[in-house]
Amino acid sequence: MSGRPGLIRRYLDRLPFEAGDPIVTLKEGSTPLVHAPWLSERVGAEVHLKIEGANPTGSFKDRGMCCALTAAVKEGAEAVICASTGNTAASAAAYAARAGLRCAVMVPEGKIATGKLAQALMHGARVIALRGNFDQALTLVRELAARHPIALVNSVNHYRLEGQKTAAFELVDELERVDAVCIPVGNAGNITAYWKGFQELAHAPRMLGFQAEGAAPLVTGRRVEHPETVASAIRIGNPARWEEAMAAMTASAGRIEAVSDAEILDAYRLLATREGVFCEPASAASVAGLLKHGAGDARRIACVLTGHGLKDPQSALEQAGSVIPCEPGLEAAERAVLG
Ligand SMILES: *Cc1c(COP(=O)(O)O)cnc(C)c1O
Repeated sequence: MSGRPGLIRRYLDRLPFEAGDPIVTLKEGSTPLVHAPWLSERVGAEVHLKIEGANPTGSFKDRGMCCALTAAVKEGAEAVICASTGNTAASAAAYAARAGLRCAVMVPEGKIATGKLAQALMHGARVIALRGNFDQALTLVRELAARHPIALVNSVNHYRLEGQKTAAFELVDELERVDAVCIPVGNAGNITAYWKGFQELAHAPRMLGFQAEGAAPLVTGRRVEHPETVASAIRIGNPARWEEAMAAMTASAGRIEAVSDAEILDAYRLLATREGVFCEPASAASVAGLLKHGAGDARRIACVLTGHGLKDPQSALEQAGSVIPCEPGLEAAERAVLG
């Protein structure tokens, strides 16, 4: 077989599937791990970036979604549903389209990035804009899935974590040893999945989770009624995988800490301008956390960049410089180009 195998085929022996299963795949996983020279210099350790934006719909959610949709098809589901801050919706919509299943997604009204909304709509999902936040949306879709024959594909679905744990396998495959993993935390499914993956390989890097200050329930120990942050993908006040995330942190001698929106946006710009890597704001929380809190004595560090920068062009344009207008003549062009 040539090209990317897709993660179920790549890791079939470590996933709850069999070779004959109706695998739903867009060839997710096997994402680039890129050395980050500027960051390494800055923190005095070897830092690598796991570019999860290179997945088919532009975020790590595809790892979990290929497994959730494969399981849904296997179990004879006709429709799937999820609550989402955006990327879960885009991914569910794409994999449901691929599988020929109907898909409904519930998102907080006016709070999801443009690219993600475009994806969910283009893939033909029924997009419901809730006049409420993500936590309320999740409560509602859990209730709907309990009452109707619709498969719930949020990360409370254990197939999602099964798929997402494969990113830990890839890190160990490529780095052999990794001392610390920096990861943004929203609903806390991903940090839980990475820890599960590492444990299955008898590997125990420090799990360093980072939340946005305005949505940091795992840091304060209290639910946040009205979570607020520029990092819309982690704007979550009551993580579904709360206990599991805290357990991963404790067992790995890691930490969960907060970073401010200003620190997130700094890291977001630095990644783009110094490392040539454009991720979305929530993803940059991993690097913001590393820059702010360090990683103890870790020598080899992986930062998980969870989603692609193009997901959220609005945030990018607000952070970046402006374009330079130019009349169509050589002199004007020279002035414009040379400054
Ligand atoms: C979903 C998401 C997260 C948060 O992952 P959780 O599993 O909810 O903690 C972080 N960044 C991006 C880009 C996401 O889409």
